[in-house]
Amino acid sequence: MDADKFKGVLFGQAIGDALGLCTEFMTKGEVRHWYPDGVKNYSQMMVDYHRARWQPGDWTDDTDMMLCIAEAVIKDKELNPQSVAQNFKKWFLGCPKGIGRHTYNVLSLGDYVENPHQAAELVWQMSGRQSAANGAVMRTSVIGLLNEEVEKHAADICRLTHADPRCVGSAVIVSQMVHALVYRNELLPLEKLIEIGRQYDDRIEPYLLMVRSETLNVLNLDDEAMGYTLKTMAAGLWSVYHAGSFEEGLLEVVNAGGDADTNGAVAGSLLGARFGYSNIPTRYVDGLVRKDALTRVSDALQDVLKG
Ligand SMILES: [Mg+2]
Repeated sequence: MDADKFKGVLFGQAIGDALGLCTEFMTKGEVRHWYPDGVKNYSQMMVDYHRARWQPGDWTDDTDMMLCIAEAVIKDKELNPQSVAQNFKKWFLGCPKGIGRHTYNVLSLGDYVENPHQAAELVWQMSGRQSAANGAVMRTSVIGLLNEEVEKHAADICRLTHADPRCVGSAVIVSQMVHALVYRNELLPLEKLIEIGRQYDDRIEPYLLMVRSETLNVLNLDDEAMGYTLKTMAAGLWSVYHAGSFEEGLLEVVNAGGDADTNGAVAGSLLGARFGYSNIPTRYVDGLVRKDALTRVSDALQDVLKG
């Protein structure tokens, strides 16, 4: 395991989440309007009704939920889905900011902790099996840091809130890519990801093929389907295949608007896995409001997983 890439995943996720908040829910045109030179720093954050709830440099629900998983692993010294479900519920009871509608509906069920997979399945069925939001892929990077059974764990943890096979497939793909980069310094080829995707849902492959495009525009990240798990997966993969640096890849994604904190969280984690913590500009690390807490989690998780 590469310790610098390991830390890069957790910090990359948090940084992408915090920077993406600056453009979350904006169209590309609105991004240009509010940030004529593009977003580069947390301090540029335009403060409106939505964003006023956070300080510049703070992350949102995406990284909060990722930390629920990390903290469960640190405590148990292994991944136990029951502990993760307990942490999700505890976090939910603290009235978190920015929680997605689907995740809210699942976590609000009375017997969630006892039967999380059934709760997720029930809410998905009630959506007419339509709901395939990005609320699980957004937190899955940390699963790629585990030293074994990444695919099984990614699927299990996804299904704690999101039952749709598109959610599960996208979470597995992102986790496997993180793992390959951190443990083998390998950028998985698109063909391998297509093979994984086919095991879950036929609708995944077209989004993987879009990743080949020279520009991100093909994904229309700012249209009305902005919270779709396959868009977020593809945005992250696009950045890790095409970018020459952490910063370049993340800024492309964040400045495309849409569900930018979530797209930024996934892209940031993958870019952190590829380029490593030491290649993340220090202003992004130092500007994180909860930098010290994240450093502690990163160190503790690495200790546990080193065995
Ligand atoms: Mg968020």
